[in-house]
Amino acid sequence: MRQPEQEDPRRATPRTDRVLADPRLEEASHRLGPRLVRVAVTAAQQRCRDGELGPEQVPDAAVAALPTAATTLRPVINATGVIVHTNLGRAPLSAAAVEALARAAGTTDVELDLATARRGRRGGGALDALRAAVPAAEAAHVVNNGAAALALAAAALAGGREVVVARGELVEIGDGFRIPELLEAAGARLREVGTTNRVHLRDYAQAVGEDTALVLKVHPSNFEVSGFTSSVTVPELAGLPVPVVADIGSGLLAPHPRLPREPDAASVLAAGADLVTASGDKLLGGPQCGLLLGREEVVQRLRRHPLARALRVDKLTLAALEATLTGPAAPVAAMLDRRADQLRARADAVAARLAPHVDVQVVESAATVGGGGAPGVELPSVALSLPPHLAAPLRAGDPPVVGRVRAGRLLLDLLTVAEADEEPLVSAVTAVTTRPDGTG
Ligand SMILES: *Cc1c(COP(=O)(O)O)cnc(C)c1O
Repeated sequence: MRQPEQEDPRRATPRTDRVLADPRLEEASHRLGPRLVRVAVTAAQQRCRDGELGPEQVPDAAVAALPTAATTLRPVINATGVIVHTNLGRAPLSAAAVEALARAAGTTDVELDLATARRGRRGGGALDALRAAVPAAEAAHVVNNGAAALALAAAALAGGREVVVARGELVEIGDGFRIPELLEAAGARLREVGTTNRVHLRDYAQAVGEDTALVLKVHPSNFEVSGFTSSVTVPELAGLPVPVVADIGSGLLAPHPRLPREPDAASVLAAGADLVTASGDKLLGGPQCGLLLGREEVVQRLRRHPLARALRVDKLTLAALEATLTGPAAPVAAMLDRRADQLRARADAVAARLAPHVDVQVVESAATVGGGGAPGVELPSVALSLPPHLAAPLRAGDPPVVGRVRAGRLLLDLLTVAEADEEPLVSAVTAVTTRPDGTG
C-alpha cells in the first residue's frame, strides 16, 4: 500500500506462461525439457523481484541461464599431463566409440539375432573383438569395471575358499577401494603370504592346500617398491597345482614399448595365467568396464554365476568397447605416442598466439600414465607455463581447462591435450586474460 502497484517489482515480474512463450524458451523446452527451462525462468523472475532486472529483461536472463545440455557433466580439457585421470573420467573415447554409443542408444540388436528373430549372444561383437585382440584368450567376458571383474572372479572361483595372495600386493587402488576387502566381500578367504617387501615361490607353495581355490597376482598399479624386494612371476606361479588369476589393472592387451614394465593381457596369459582381469577405461582407452580374459572353462564358470547378471554391462558400453577395439587408435594410445619434439612445435605455435595477452613460456614437462598404471614412468613432455592465478579462472571457464600448479607456475601439459582441443584451449586462455576487469 505504501508503494504504487506499478512500482512493486513483485507485481511487475512477468508471469511464467508469458516468459515461456518466448520462442527461444519454447525451443529450449523441446531440446532440454520443460523442467530445466522452468528452473532458468524461475531464477530470472527471482532476480526481477529482487530488483536486479527490469521486467523486460527477464526472458533474456532466462535464456542466458539455460544449461547447454540436459546434463551437468561438462567436457573438460585435460592439460594435467596425467593420461588416465580418474577425476576427469579416465580415458576419453575415440570418435568411433562415440559414434558407436550414439548408434546403440536407441533400440538395438544387442541380444537379438535379426536373421532368426531368436535371442542372440549378448554383446557378441565386442566379445569377438576382444578375442581377436588377445588370441591367447580362449574366452572373454565383460562386466562393469575392474573391481567387478575381480569380485566376480573371487565369488565364482573362490566363494567360501582360500585365495592365496602376496602381502605386498594387498593394495588400495584409490578412494578407499582396497582389493583385500573386495575379495572378502565377494566371499573369498584371504591367505596372505610373504612380507610387505618380499615373497618367494616357496611361500606360495607352502600356503597352497586342500582349501585353496586360486592364487591371485595383483599388479601394484599406483606405487612402486624399491630396495630389498622380491616377487614371484606368473610363469613361476603357473607351476603351482591351482589356477592363477592375474589382476593387471591397466588393461594393456599387448606389450607397449614405452611402458616396458607394465603387464599386458597377452603376455600374462601366454605366461600361464588362467584368467586375467583388467579395466577397460585405463590404458585400453575405452569405456568404463572390466575385462575378464582366459581359459574357456574358467570364463564359463564366471558367466554362470548369479552375480554375472548383477555386474553385466549395458549396450552403450558394449558398443563403445567394440569400436575402441576395432576402430582407429583411441586417444589414450595417441597420447602415449606423442613425442616431446612434436609437442614443442605445437607449444611454440600456441605460445606465440597467447604471448600478446599473457606471460607465457614453453617448458619441459613430465607426463604420467596416472593411477591407471605404469607407476614411476615419466613421459617427456612440453607444457605452457602461465601465471598461477589463472588456474581457478581456467577451471571455471568454457570449456574448463585443468592444468597443474608446480613451483609457482600453472603448467598446461600438451601431451594430454588433443590437437582438436588446441583452438578451444587458446580461446579459453585468451578469455581469462583479456577480461575487462583486468583480472587476467
Ligand atoms: C584400477 C585397478 C582396479 C580397479 O579397476 P576399476 O576399473 O577402477 O574398478 C583393480 N586392480 C588394479 C590393479 C587396478 O589398477
